[in-house]
Amino acid sequence: MTAHRPELSIVSPVHNEGASLPAFVAAVDAALADLHLDYEVVLVDDGSRDDSWDRIRKAAAEDPRIRGLSLSRNFGKEAAMRAGLETACGQAVVMIDADLQHPPDVIPAMIAAWRDGAQVVEAVKSNRPGQSFASRSASRLFNWGFSRLTSVELSDATDFRLLTRPAVDALLSMPERSSFFRGTSTWIGFQRARVAFEVAPRGVGRTRWSLRSLTRMAIDAITAFTPAPLRLVTAAGIIFAVFAVVLGVQTIWRWAAGDAIQGFTTVILILLVQGTFVLVGLGIIGEYLSRVHDEVKGRPRFIIDRRTDEPS
Ligand code: UDP
Ligand code: MG
Repeated sequence: MTAHRPELSIVSPVHNEGASLPAFVAAVDAALADLHLDYEVVLVDDGSRDDSWDRIRKAAAEDPRIRGLSLSRNFGKEAAMRAGLETACGQAVVMIDADLQHPPDVIPAMIAAWRDGAQVVEAVKSNRPGQSFASRSASRLFNWGFSRLTSVELSDATDFRLLTRPAVDALLSMPERSSFFRGTSTWIGFQRARVAFEVAPRGVGRTRWSLRSLTRMAIDAITAFTPAPLRLVTAAGIIFAVFAVVLGVQTIWRWAAGDAIQGFTTVILILLVQGTFVLVGLGIIGEYLSRVHDEVKGRPRFIIDRRTDEPS
Protein backbone atom coordinates (compact mmCIF):
# COMPACT_ATOMS: atom_id res chain seq x y z
CA MET A 1 0.00 0.00 0.00
CA THR A 2 1.26 3.43 -0.84
CA ALA A 3 1.28 6.12 1.78
CA HIS A 4 -0.34 8.47 -0.72
CA ARG A 5 -3.06 10.50 0.94
CA PRO A 6 -5.33 12.31 -1.52
CA GLU A 7 -7.25 15.35 -0.34
CA LEU A 8 -10.58 13.85 -1.25
CA SER A 9 -12.01 10.35 -1.60
CA ILE A 10 -15.22 9.68 -3.47
CA VAL A 11 -16.78 6.45 -2.21
CA SER A 12 -19.60 4.67 -4.05
CA PRO A 13 -21.40 1.42 -3.33
CA VAL A 14 -22.13 -0.36 -6.60
CA HIS A 15 -24.69 -3.10 -7.05
CA ASN A 16 -25.60 -4.02 -10.62
CA GLU A 17 -24.86 -0.53 -11.96
CA GLY A 18 -22.70 -1.66 -14.89
CA ALA A 19 -24.81 0.21 -17.43
CA SER A 20 -24.45 3.59 -15.75
CA LEU A 21 -20.97 3.19 -14.30
CA PRO A 22 -18.97 4.81 -17.14
CA ALA A 23 -21.37 7.80 -17.07
CA PHE A 24 -20.98 8.03 -13.31
CA VAL A 25 -17.18 7.98 -13.44
CA ALA A 26 -17.22 10.62 -16.20
CA ALA A 27 -19.65 12.81 -14.24
CA VAL A 28 -17.46 12.71 -11.13
CA ASP A 29 -14.43 13.57 -13.23
CA ALA A 30 -16.27 16.47 -14.88
CA ALA A 31 -17.58 17.81 -11.58
CA LEU A 32 -14.12 17.86 -10.00
CA ALA A 33 -12.09 18.91 -13.05
CA ASP A 34 -12.08 22.64 -12.28
CA LEU A 35 -11.13 22.25 -8.64
CA HIS A 36 -7.62 20.92 -9.33
CA LEU A 37 -7.58 18.79 -6.28
CA ASP A 38 -5.94 15.50 -5.64
CA TYR A 39 -8.71 12.94 -5.36
CA GLU A 40 -9.38 9.21 -5.57
CA VAL A 41 -12.55 7.28 -6.39
CA VAL A 42 -13.26 4.11 -4.43
CA LEU A 43 -15.87 1.90 -6.09
CA VAL A 44 -17.17 -0.96 -3.97
CA ASP A 45 -18.80 -3.72 -5.95
CA ASP A 46 -21.38 -5.20 -3.62
CA GLY A 47 -21.76 -8.62 -5.18
CA SER A 48 -23.11 -7.43 -8.54
CA ARG A 49 -24.36 -10.04 -10.98
CA ASP A 50 -23.88 -7.86 -14.03
CA ASP A 51 -20.67 -6.51 -15.56
CA SER A 52 -20.10 -3.90 -12.82
CA TRP A 53 -16.82 -5.46 -11.65
CA ASP A 54 -15.39 -5.66 -15.18
CA ARG A 55 -16.25 -2.03 -15.70
CA ILE A 56 -14.69 -1.05 -12.39
CA ARG A 57 -11.50 -2.93 -13.33
CA LYS A 58 -11.45 -1.26 -16.71
CA ALA A 59 -11.98 2.19 -15.20
CA ALA A 60 -9.22 1.53 -12.66
CA ALA A 61 -6.84 0.42 -15.41
CA GLU A 62 -7.50 3.61 -17.37
CA ASP A 63 -7.37 6.04 -14.47
CA PRO A 64 -4.95 5.51 -11.55
CA ARG A 65 -7.17 7.63 -9.31
CA ILE A 66 -9.86 4.96 -9.43
CA ARG A 67 -9.65 1.99 -7.07
CA GLY A 68 -12.11 -0.84 -6.87
CA LEU A 69 -12.90 -3.56 -4.41
CA SER A 70 -15.28 -6.39 -4.78
CA LEU A 71 -17.14 -7.98 -1.89
CA SER A 72 -17.48 -11.74 -1.88
CA ARG A 73 -21.28 -11.49 -2.15
CA ASN A 74 -24.07 -8.94 -1.81
CA PHE A 75 -23.71 -7.63 1.74
CA GLY A 76 -26.07 -4.68 1.34
CA LYS A 77 -25.47 -0.99 0.84
CA GLU A 78 -24.54 -0.27 4.46
CA ALA A 79 -21.77 -2.87 4.44
CA ALA A 80 -20.53 -1.69 1.03
CA MET A 81 -20.36 1.91 2.28
CA ARG A 82 -18.44 0.78 5.34
CA ALA A 83 -15.98 -1.18 3.17
CA GLY A 84 -15.45 1.96 1.08
CA LEU A 85 -14.97 4.15 4.15
CA GLU A 86 -12.36 1.77 5.53
CA THR A 87 -10.50 1.81 2.23
CA ALA A 88 -10.67 5.54 1.50
CA CYS A 89 -7.60 7.53 2.53
CA GLY A 90 -8.65 11.08 1.70
CA GLN A 91 -8.72 13.92 4.20
CA ALA A 92 -12.40 14.11 3.40
CA VAL A 93 -14.69 11.43 2.03
CA VAL A 94 -17.78 11.98 -0.11
CA MET A 95 -20.26 9.12 -0.01
CA ILE A 96 -22.34 9.08 -3.17
CA ASP A 97 -24.65 6.58 -4.91
CA ALA A 98 -23.33 5.24 -8.20
CA ASP A 99 -26.71 5.35 -9.94
CA LEU A 100 -26.43 9.09 -10.71
CA GLN A 101 -29.40 9.89 -8.48
CA HIS A 102 -26.96 11.89 -6.39
CA PRO A 103 -25.66 14.45 -8.89
CA PRO A 104 -21.85 14.71 -8.69
CA ASP A 105 -22.04 18.43 -9.59
CA VAL A 106 -23.15 19.08 -6.01
CA ILE A 107 -19.74 17.92 -4.73
CA PRO A 108 -18.01 21.31 -5.32
CA ALA A 109 -20.63 22.99 -3.08
CA MET A 110 -19.97 20.36 -0.43
CA ILE A 111 -16.24 20.97 -0.69
CA ALA A 112 -16.86 24.71 -0.36
CA ALA A 113 -18.79 24.09 2.87
CA TRP A 114 -15.89 21.92 4.09
CA ARG A 115 -13.43 24.71 3.30
CA ASP A 116 -15.70 27.01 5.34
CA GLY A 117 -15.12 24.82 8.36
CA ALA A 118 -17.86 22.17 8.26
CA GLN A 119 -16.79 18.65 9.23
CA VAL A 120 -19.91 16.89 8.01
CA VAL A 121 -21.73 18.23 4.96
CA GLU A 122 -25.12 16.65 4.31
CA ALA A 123 -26.73 16.87 0.91
CA VAL A 124 -30.47 17.11 1.56
CA LYS A 125 -33.20 16.30 -0.92
CA SER A 126 -35.30 19.15 -2.17
CA ASN A 127 -37.54 16.81 -4.17
CA ARG A 128 -38.49 13.14 -4.40
CA PRO A 129 -39.01 12.17 -8.01
CA GLY A 130 -40.84 9.03 -8.99
CA GLN A 131 -41.88 8.27 -5.43
CA SER A 132 -45.49 7.33 -4.96
CA PHE A 133 -47.67 9.06 -2.39
CA ALA A 134 -47.60 5.92 -0.24
CA SER A 135 -43.82 5.56 -0.26
CA ARG A 136 -43.36 9.30 0.34
CA SER A 137 -45.74 9.13 3.32
CA ALA A 138 -44.00 6.01 4.63
CA SER A 139 -40.58 7.63 4.52
CA ARG A 140 -41.95 10.82 6.16
CA LEU A 141 -43.51 8.68 8.89
CA PHE A 142 -40.23 6.80 9.40
CA ASN A 143 -38.14 9.99 9.53
CA TRP A 144 -40.58 11.61 11.90
CA GLY A 145 -40.74 8.57 14.17
CA PHE A 146 -36.97 8.09 14.10
CA SER A 147 -36.31 11.74 14.93
CA ARG A 148 -38.84 11.65 17.77
CA LEU A 149 -37.47 8.44 19.27
CA THR A 150 -33.76 9.20 18.94
CA SER A 151 -33.36 12.98 18.63
CA VAL A 152 -31.28 12.33 15.50
CA GLU A 153 -32.89 14.51 12.83
CA LEU A 154 -33.38 12.64 9.55
CA SER A 155 -35.90 14.58 7.47
CA ASP A 156 -34.80 14.83 3.82
CA ALA A 157 -31.48 13.26 4.82
CA THR A 158 -29.64 11.02 2.37
CA ASP A 159 -26.43 8.99 2.37
CA PHE A 160 -24.91 11.64 0.08
CA ARG A 161 -22.50 13.24 2.55
CA LEU A 162 -19.03 14.63 2.93
CA LEU A 163 -17.19 13.62 6.08
CA THR A 164 -13.80 14.97 7.07
CA ARG A 165 -11.11 12.65 8.41
CA PRO A 166 -11.98 13.15 12.12
CA ALA A 167 -15.63 12.37 11.37
CA VAL A 168 -14.69 9.30 9.29
CA ASP A 169 -12.39 8.05 12.05
CA ALA A 170 -15.16 8.58 14.61
CA LEU A 171 -17.52 6.51 12.45
CA LEU A 172 -14.95 3.78 11.91
CA SER A 173 -14.35 3.55 15.65
CA MET A 174 -17.96 2.46 16.20
CA PRO A 175 -17.91 -1.24 16.98
CA GLU A 176 -21.46 -2.18 16.00
CA ARG A 177 -21.89 -4.71 13.19
CA SER A 178 -25.12 -3.49 11.68
CA SER A 179 -24.79 0.18 11.06
CA PHE A 180 -27.12 2.84 9.73
CA PHE A 181 -24.89 5.38 8.00
CA ARG A 182 -27.46 8.17 7.79
CA GLY A 183 -28.08 7.87 11.53
CA THR A 184 -24.55 7.28 12.81
CA SER A 185 -22.99 9.99 10.65
CA THR A 186 -25.49 12.41 12.22
CA TRP A 187 -25.10 11.00 15.72
CA ILE A 188 -21.33 11.65 15.80
CA GLY A 189 -21.99 15.40 15.81
CA PHE A 190 -19.16 17.70 14.60
CA GLN A 191 -19.56 21.02 12.84
CA ARG A 192 -22.27 20.49 10.25
CA ALA A 193 -23.54 22.10 7.06
CA ARG A 194 -26.31 21.29 4.60
CA VAL A 195 -26.40 21.60 0.85
CA ALA A 196 -29.69 21.13 -1.04
CA PHE A 197 -29.84 19.05 -4.20
CA GLU A 198 -32.44 17.75 -6.60
CA VAL A 199 -32.63 13.97 -6.74
CA ALA A 200 -32.40 12.87 -10.36
CA PRO A 201 -34.90 10.29 -11.51
CA ARG A 202 -33.28 6.87 -11.79
CA GLY A 203 -31.97 6.46 -15.33
CA VAL A 204 -30.82 2.92 -15.91
CA GLY A 205 -31.64 -0.04 -13.71
CA ARG A 206 -34.08 0.08 -10.86
CA THR A 207 -34.10 0.60 -7.15
CA ARG A 208 -33.22 -2.41 -5.03
CA TRP A 209 -35.56 -1.45 -2.26
CA SER A 210 -38.63 -3.58 -1.81
CA LEU A 211 -41.28 -3.00 0.83
CA ARG A 212 -39.71 -5.87 2.73
CA SER A 213 -36.14 -4.59 2.64
CA LEU A 214 -37.34 -1.09 3.57
CA THR A 215 -39.24 -2.45 6.58
CA ARG A 216 -36.15 -4.45 7.58
CA MET A 217 -34.02 -1.32 7.23
CA ALA A 218 -36.46 0.72 9.36
CA ILE A 219 -36.51 -1.91 12.12
CA ASP A 220 -32.70 -2.23 12.06
CA ALA A 221 -32.27 1.53 12.16
CA ILE A 222 -34.59 1.97 15.12
CA THR A 223 -33.28 -0.97 17.15
CA ALA A 224 -29.72 0.15 16.43
CA PHE A 225 -30.41 3.56 17.86
CA THR A 226 -32.90 3.46 20.67
CA PRO A 227 -34.44 1.16 23.27
CA ALA A 228 -37.65 3.27 23.09
CA PRO A 229 -39.83 0.45 21.65
CA LEU A 230 -38.88 -1.72 24.64
CA ARG A 231 -40.06 1.05 26.94
CA LEU A 232 -43.31 1.21 24.98
CA VAL A 233 -43.86 -2.44 25.88
CA THR A 234 -43.37 -1.56 29.54
CA ALA A 235 -45.69 1.44 29.20
CA ALA A 236 -48.38 -0.71 27.57
CA GLY A 237 -47.99 -3.19 30.40
CA ILE A 238 -48.51 -0.48 33.01
CA ILE A 239 -51.59 0.85 31.22
CA PHE A 240 -52.96 -2.69 31.13
CA ALA A 241 -52.25 -3.10 34.83
CA VAL A 242 -54.36 -0.03 35.64
CA PHE A 243 -57.08 -1.30 33.35
CA ALA A 244 -56.88 -4.74 35.01
CA VAL A 245 -57.36 -3.30 38.50
CA VAL A 246 -60.40 -1.24 37.46
CA LEU A 247 -62.00 -4.08 35.53
CA GLY A 248 -61.09 -6.60 38.22
CA VAL A 249 -62.72 -4.59 40.97
CA GLN A 250 -65.81 -4.09 38.84
CA THR A 251 -66.02 -7.79 38.02
CA ILE A 252 -65.73 -8.88 41.64
CA TRP A 253 -68.27 -6.25 42.63
CA ARG A 254 -70.77 -7.57 40.11
CA TRP A 255 -70.07 -11.15 41.10
CA ALA A 256 -70.75 -10.24 44.72
CA ALA A 257 -73.92 -8.46 43.68
CA GLY A 258 -75.01 -11.63 41.88
CA ASP A 259 -75.27 -10.42 38.25
CA ALA A 260 -72.14 -11.79 36.57
CA ILE A 261 -73.49 -13.89 33.70
CA GLN A 262 -73.30 -11.37 30.84
CA GLY A 263 -70.03 -10.20 29.33
CA PHE A 264 -68.94 -12.85 26.85
CA THR A 265 -68.21 -10.21 24.20
CA THR A 266 -66.08 -8.28 26.66
CA VAL A 267 -64.07 -11.38 27.50
CA ILE A 268 -63.37 -12.13 23.84
CA LEU A 269 -62.37 -8.54 23.10
CA ILE A 270 -60.05 -8.39 26.08
CA LEU A 271 -58.44 -11.69 25.08
CA LEU A 272 -57.88 -10.48 21.53
CA VAL A 273 -56.41 -7.12 22.57
CA GLN A 274 -54.28 -8.67 25.27
CA GLY A 275 -53.04 -11.46 23.00
CA THR A 276 -52.02 -8.90 20.39
CA PHE A 277 -50.12 -6.80 22.91
CA VAL A 278 -48.33 -9.81 24.35
CA LEU A 279 -47.23 -11.06 20.92
CA VAL A 280 -46.16 -7.63 19.66
CA GLY A 281 -44.29 -7.09 22.91
CA LEU A 282 -42.51 -10.43 22.52
CA GLY A 283 -41.71 -9.52 18.92
CA ILE A 284 -40.11 -6.25 19.98
CA ILE A 285 -38.05 -8.00 22.64
CA GLY A 286 -37.09 -10.59 20.01
CA GLU A 287 -35.84 -7.87 17.64
CA TYR A 288 -33.48 -6.53 20.30
CA LEU A 289 -32.41 -10.04 21.25
CA SER A 290 -31.54 -10.82 17.63
CA ARG A 291 -29.42 -7.66 17.48
CA VAL A 292 -27.56 -8.71 20.59
CA HIS A 293 -27.11 -12.14 19.00
CA ASP A 294 -25.71 -10.56 15.83
CA GLU A 295 -23.33 -8.32 17.72
CA VAL A 296 -22.14 -11.10 20.02
CA LYS A 297 -21.25 -13.32 17.07
CA GLY A 298 -18.97 -10.52 15.93
CA ARG A 299 -18.78 -11.64 12.32
CA PRO A 300 -17.09 -9.30 9.85
CA ARG A 301 -19.42 -6.74 8.29
CA PHE A 302 -18.27 -7.73 4.80
CA ILE A 303 -15.66 -9.89 3.11
CA ILE A 304 -13.43 -8.43 0.42
CA ASP A 305 -12.78 -10.80 -2.43
CA ARG A 306 -10.74 -8.79 -4.95
CA ARG A 307 -9.17 -5.35 -5.21
CA THR A 308 -7.92 -3.54 -8.28
CA ASP A 309 -4.78 -2.36 -6.51
CA GLU A 310 -3.63 -5.88 -5.72
CA PRO A 311 -2.74 -8.58 -8.24
CA SER A 312 -5.61 -11.05 -8.43
N1 UDP B 1 -26.43 -0.63 -3.52
C1 UDP B 1 -25.49 -1.51 -2.98
N2 UDP B 1 -25.89 -2.70 -2.45
C2 UDP B 1 -27.20 -3.08 -2.43
C3 UDP B 1 -28.16 -2.18 -2.94
C4 UDP B 1 -27.75 -0.97 -3.47
O1 UDP B 1 -24.29 -1.20 -2.99
O2 UDP B 1 -27.49 -4.17 -1.95
C5 UDP B 1 -26.00 0.66 -4.09
C6 UDP B 1 -26.53 0.96 -5.48
O3 UDP B 1 -25.68 0.47 -6.48
C7 UDP B 1 -26.56 2.47 -5.49
C8 UDP B 1 -26.88 2.81 -4.05
O4 UDP B 1 -26.52 1.67 -3.27
O5 UDP B 1 -25.30 3.01 -5.83
C9 UDP B 1 -28.34 3.16 -3.85
O6 UDP B 1 -29.14 2.09 -4.26
P1 UDP B 1 -30.59 2.31 -4.91
O7 UDP B 1 -30.50 3.29 -6.02
O8 UDP B 1 -31.11 0.96 -5.23
O9 UDP B 1 -31.39 2.92 -3.70
P2 UDP B 1 -32.29 4.26 -3.69
O10 UDP B 1 -31.60 5.29 -4.53
O11 UDP B 1 -33.59 3.85 -4.24
O12 UDP B 1 -32.32 4.63 -2.23
MG1 MG C 1 -30.85 5.23 -6.26
